[in-house]
Amino acid sequence: MAAKSENIGFDPDLLRNKYREERDKRLRTDGNDQYKEVEGDFKYFVEDPYVDKIEKSPENLITEVVIIGGGFGGILAASRLRMSGVNDFKIIEKGGNFGGTWYWNRYPGASCDIESYIYFPLLEETGFIPKHKYTNAPETLEYIGKISEKFNLSENAIFQTEVKEVVWLENEGLWKISTNRGDDIRAKYVVHSNGPLNRPKLPAIEGINDFQGHTFHTSRWDYQYTGGSSKGNLENLKDKKVAIIGTGATAVQCIPHLGEAAKELYVFQRTPSSIDERNNSETDEEWFTKLKPGWHNERRENFEGFLTGNFQQKDLVNDGWTEIFRTILGSIRSSAPSKITMFFWFLGGLFTRNFYKKGIKNYLTDKFISHVGEDNLMNKVEMVDFEKMEKIRARAEEVVNDPNTAESLKPYYRQFCKRPCFHDEYLKTYNRESVTLVDTDGKGLDKITEKGIFFDGKEYEVDCIIFATGFEVGTEYTRRSGYEIIGKNNLSISEKWKDGLVTYHGMHCRGFPNTFFFGPAQGGFTANFTHSLDEQSIHLSYILDKMRKEGKNYVEASEEAEKNWVNTVIEKARNMQAFQESCTPGYYNNEGKPNTSPQNNPYGGGSLEFFSLMKKWRKKGSLDGLEVQSNSFN
Ligand code: NDP
Repeated sequence: MAAKSENIGFDPDLLRNKYREERDKRLRTDGNDQYKEVEGDFKYFVEDPYVDKIEKSPENLITEVVIIGGGFGGILAASRLRMSGVNDFKIIEKGGNFGGTWYWNRYPGASCDIESYIYFPLLEETGFIPKHKYTNAPETLEYIGKISEKFNLSENAIFQTEVKEVVWLENEGLWKISTNRGDDIRAKYVVHSNGPLNRPKLPAIEGINDFQGHTFHTSRWDYQYTGGSSKGNLENLKDKKVAIIGTGATAVQCIPHLGEAAKELYVFQRTPSSIDERNNSETDEEWFTKLKPGWHNERRENFEGFLTGNFQQKDLVNDGWTEIFRTILGSIRSSAPSKITMFFWFLGGLFTRNFYKKGIKNYLTDKFISHVGEDNLMNKVEMVDFEKMEKIRARAEEVVNDPNTAESLKPYYRQFCKRPCFHDEYLKTYNRESVTLVDTDGKGLDKITEKGIFFDGKEYEVDCIIFATGFEVGTEYTRRSGYEIIGKNNLSISEKWKDGLVTYHGMHCRGFPNTFFFGPAQGGFTANFTHSLDEQSIHLSYILDKMRKEGKNYVEASEEAEKNWVNTVIEKARNMQAFQESCTPGYYNNEGKPNTSPQNNPYGGGSLEFFSLMKKWRKKGSLDGLEVQSNSFN
């Protein structure tokens, strides 16, 4: 082992131990309960700082389709409905405009680390040319506006309105949607597209409301206080001492702007993110305008192919995301016999984290595994991960001048334990005299006082505390979405899902007719989230179109289809737990308590396999697994 370690430049055993130690010091018994709900005394954290509240009278109306959520999922659903001739729909959105996560997350530096040419949906339909390879929040909001304009979506929108309850009215064959505005909206169909990162969360730290200075969450950035815009230039902070709590993907993007503007900046870190290079570049318009029809889907699928292991010659996106998988591939290839494609199937499990022993069998033949050797394969994947993370750690050392700060910024966990980040200014920010990294070594802060933050016997007096502490992911549906759904026979969605998610294709749920869920649960998860939302909107409009043509008005998953789908999800996802348990806590592994129920996962065969399954299902044209009827209601 010693000789091997010398050759490769690191000792795998030492790293394994270090990863375990770092994870163990962060494991806590309270899991998701360490976070506070932004309710009651904390409700001010979710008030909309971007628009004035409009006063309006309650609406009473009946419509064909209600879409809950006006983010990318909602506007894609609406655009595709419009394209298929459905015009009688409403989009209910709590923000003052469309945008969803992009409406709320306008913090300075907010940008998307998925290539814009694949992240922006409907690019061929709108003819929009993103200015850069990686886009930012202002351009994304601009593009969302373009989609809305093209499909006249504003006329169907009910903004500044929060859904409070959705109830099935058996006799009417309609859903009743109640809102915080006293509306009574009834719809034949409801699409729930409320986003997986919709509800901000706060750490349950003593004293948050004692703080006498200014405070806000990154998803409600207060530009009145800081000055500037999403592009930075926070001129009002030049005489302010600022603290930011959290160093996840959001903090990584706004810290460089805070560091540039604030008189003093204190960054309170619990776990460092992995920071790779970003290398943004301007769009070559000539190249863009010459792309052949069909290029957009081809590019999205090419990207997805790398992330899910489907063999292809050319890496069209060719960035940090695909590089990770190309590297793994290159290494494993060296031990491959003739059946190289088997390896790609295996890699399909990587992104969905099926890479422990039993999971391999989903992707490789037994013959092949015995040829290469199971342990050998696992070791190779782990070694590539070690190598990649060693480079990430070396980068922190190269860029950051102070050796202690550099050491604190090194992430010790496997790359996909947390969202990988790509940023060219973040690490450099710690070379500023005015910026201090307060490394809490996995503990988090002790308390918040009237004057600032208390940690390890020291009070850091500040004017402003910014919470970059993320969003609720692992809490129950009603807490995250803010509303309950009551289906047939008074069955609530909380009750239905109390022991784990139960759906058909992630979209339908027995007991909840004419309901469509958007999101990654039991469906095709991808880092390029808009791609899966687009696929879901295509699926939705196909089903509604087919029902309309056949004169049907009622659709519900059959008991058998739902049961089989849950079994498929369990079968495909059964080995995620071992990897997740090895990870440092975060929302990817339910704060260190991996979902004990394997059914609470996306479809484990990977997004492309899922999309292709849905495409085949549509092509068959028989709406298999759905009970579709033509009912007459009172
Ligand atoms: P995260 O949940 O990723 O990060 C929350 C941060 O708060 C973590 O660093 C966490 O530390 C820290 N934290 C929580 N509690 C405490 C505490 N008590 N004391 C100190 N620190 C604490 O949220 P983000 O908003 O950063 O990101 C959420 C997601 O949004 C990303 O994963 C990504 O999917 C998406 N996003 C995407 C971007 C893109 O480019 N496409 C950009 C920004 C966000 P710890 O790690 O120890 O839990």
